Amino acid sequence: MALILSLYMRMFLTVGAKVAIALCLLSLPSAKANPSSLYVKLFQARPLVSSIFVRGPFVIVNPTRTVINDGVFEFTDAGRGIVLRKVGGKRQKEIVRAPYVVMANRGSEPLAIGPDQAHMRKYYGEITVKKEPAEPGKPAQLTALNLVDSFNYVSSVVGGETTPQFGKEALKAMAVLVYTRLAPKGKHPTVSDTTDEMVYLGAEHERPEVIDAVNEIDRVKLLYNGRPAQVFFHACCAGRTSDGVDIFGKGAKSLVYLKGVRCDYCKGSPLFGPTVKKIPAAIFEREIAGSEPKVLEKDNAERIVSAEISKGGRTEVLSGYQLWLRIGQKLGWDKAPGTRYEIKRTGSAYTIKSSGGGHGVGLCQWGAQGLSRQGKSHAEILKFYFPSASLERR
Ligand SMILES: [Zn+2]
Repeated sequence: MALILSLYMRMFLTVGAKVAIALCLLSLPSAKANPSSLYVKLFQARPLVSSIFVRGPFVIVNPTRTVINDGVFEFTDAGRGIVLRKVGGKRQKEIVRAPYVVMANRGSEPLAIGPDQAHMRKYYGEITVKKEPAEPGKPAQLTALNLVDSFNYVSSVVGGETTPQFGKEALKAMAVLVYTRLAPKGKHPTVSDTTDEMVYLGAEHERPEVIDAVNEIDRVKLLYNGRPAQVFFHACCAGRTSDGVDIFGKGAKSLVYLKGVRCDYCKGSPLFGPTVKKIPAAIFEREIAGSEPKVLEKDNAERIVSAEISKGGRTEVLSGYQLWLRIGQKLGWDKAPGTRYEIKRTGSAYTIKSSGGGHGVGLCQWGAQGLSRQGKSHAEILKFYFPSASLERR
C-alpha cells in the first residue's frame, strides 16, 4: 500500500513541472540566498476547507497566549472571524474568537492539524488559521498557513520524494535540488503545498537519514553562470532523460543544462515499465481524441515532441507533454506514468504503453538512487544529470 501511495505521489509530483515551467521559465532567478523560513499554504489540494481541526496539546500565541491541553479542537466560521471549540459532547464553549489565530507546538512534538480528523498532518513552526473572503453564495473558506524553517521544509520535501531505501548520496542530491528551487523565491516566500510548487506533507516525512543528508548539504545549490539553475526531477527515465526543450517547448531553450543523458541506473524503479493500460474506445474518444493521435516528432529518447489529435471535427497540434498531462488529468495518472508513451487503437479499446515515471527531464530519482548504490557522491550524481551546471562553492 505504501508503495502504491508513493507511486501515485510521485506521479502527482511530476505534474508540478507544468506550473513550475509557467513560473520558472518566464523569469530567470536572480536571488542567490535561500530563504531561512517560508510560508506554506496547507491543504491546497482540497478545493474548499470550511473547518480546520487541531490536536492538542498546543499553544495559541495570537491573539492571546493560551496553553491548550490534550483533545481535538475545531476552527469554524464565526461571521467576521473564526472560533475555536473542543470537539465532542454537547456544544463546547468558545476557546477563542478572532479574525485569525496563530498557534505553535507545545514541547517537542510538531503541531497536528488537518481539514478533517482523518487527514491530520504534523508540522513544525507556527500555523495561522484565518477566514478567506467568501464568494457570493458559497460557504466561507478557512486557510492554514505554516511558517516553517527552510531546513524542515527541505527535509520534508526530500523525504516525501523518496523512499526509505534511497541511499544518502541520492538524498543529498535531492536536497540540493530542493534548495535550488527555493533560492529564487525571495526572503520569506509563500508557496503552496502541492505540485504547483513542491509537495510538502509535514514533519512525518522528515526521516532521520533525510535530516542527516539535508544537514550535510547545508543549503548548497546547483548553479549555472553563477545563478541558481532551474532544476527539474522525475521518478524514473527508463533509459534516457530528455532535453528540456523537447518536453517543455521553446521556453526551455536557454536552459542548456537540461540536456538528455543516457541513464542505465534506474532499473530498480517499480515504474521502469513498460506499463500497458487499455482504455475503452468510447471513453478515450470522449476525453482525449476521436482517433489515434498522429505523432509528428519524437526526440532521441523516444518521447513524443509533438502530436496531432482530432476531436469533434477539430484538429489540434500539441506537445507530447501536453497530451500526457491531458491523459493524466482526464483518465488518471496511472494510465501513462511516463512521458515515453505510445497510443494504439486495438479493437474496441485504445492501448497506452509507457515506460518510466514523470516528465523525463533533469534528474532521474531512481537513477540517482542507482548511482548512489554504486558509490557515487551527490556531486557526481548531479554532474551526471546536469553536466553543465555546477555545485555552489561555500
Ligand atoms: Zn533513469
